[in-house]
Amino acid sequence: MTNFQHTLRKSVKAFGIGLHSGNKVSLKINPSSVNTGICFVRTDLSPEQVVPARTRYVVDTRFATTIGNEKGSVSTIEHLMAALSGAGVNNALIEVDGPEVPAMDGSAAPFFSLLQKAGLKAQDEPIQYIEVLEPITVTMGDKLLSIEPCKNFVVSFEIEFEHPLIAKQRFVDRITPQTFACQISKARTFGFFSEVELLRENGFARGGSLENAVVVGDKSIYNSGGLRFSDEFVRHKVLDLIGDLYLLGAPILGKVRAVKSGHALHHILNKELLTRPSSWEYVEQDRDWVIPSWVGQKDDVVSVAAPA
Ligand SMILES: [Zn+2]
Repeated sequence: MTNFQHTLRKSVKAFGIGLHSGNKVSLKINPSSVNTGICFVRTDLSPEQVVPARTRYVVDTRFATTIGNEKGSVSTIEHLMAALSGAGVNNALIEVDGPEVPAMDGSAAPFFSLLQKAGLKAQDEPIQYIEVLEPITVTMGDKLLSIEPCKNFVVSFEIEFEHPLIAKQRFVDRITPQTFACQISKARTFGFFSEVELLRENGFARGGSLENAVVVGDKSIYNSGGLRFSDEFVRHKVLDLIGDLYLLGAPILGKVRAVKSGHALHHILNKELLTRPSSWEYVEQDRDWVIPSWVGQKDDVVSVAAPA
């Protein structure tokens, strides 16, 4: 069964504060036509600024992914992008009335629930996947990120922190809507209590709190409910990677290996892939995973019987 492009059945809204700016912001995710991809609109600017969620619009990768043009930018898009990728939304127009996407609970789960609530509608064109044809490796200090040919989207991620509550963690799985929903979407962003002051002095994490991030102290986690997974940290890194890779503009088929990677290196890989035309091609693909309940299919279309 061919995989058709999907958009939302209806618009959905969310409100919250930006993790880094601390500003209040409202968000509306709307259906959009085939082949338009994911686009953000800054509705608070005059004229409104449309910024496609594509690699060439990435303007900053410090602590978050920011896209923009000369007139406006949208920051911290990666968790929403991960939810759109994980849920299988190919086309959506996202309105925000400020410079940053709301942090929600620091994971992709609230966005994912919104998309499930809207429901997805199959569109008339098949999905054009980016199939990786040649291995590519990029590095930055001790960080490494590579991608190699594979007929599925598989992610392996390794992190290693000196901190005893994190230490070494590794996650490997094929990413489907089901694995994203169960294993990845709920993993929250995290920060070290010892670094909060410095981050805030530099304009980051101003909206950060125990409501939207895991805060790691010297000997314990500050959040009263503890962790959602014993390896929540590496799962969140996978979430960020999925969101950042979606800036390629299409779902990817390849095996990604990440070691201590982050936003900056994710975007270096995206740029490297896009500038090497021999390393990938667009393909259509039949699905072999179970269709989740929120995803509409082409044969959902109600046929109207001809009058007798
Ligand atoms: Zn993140």
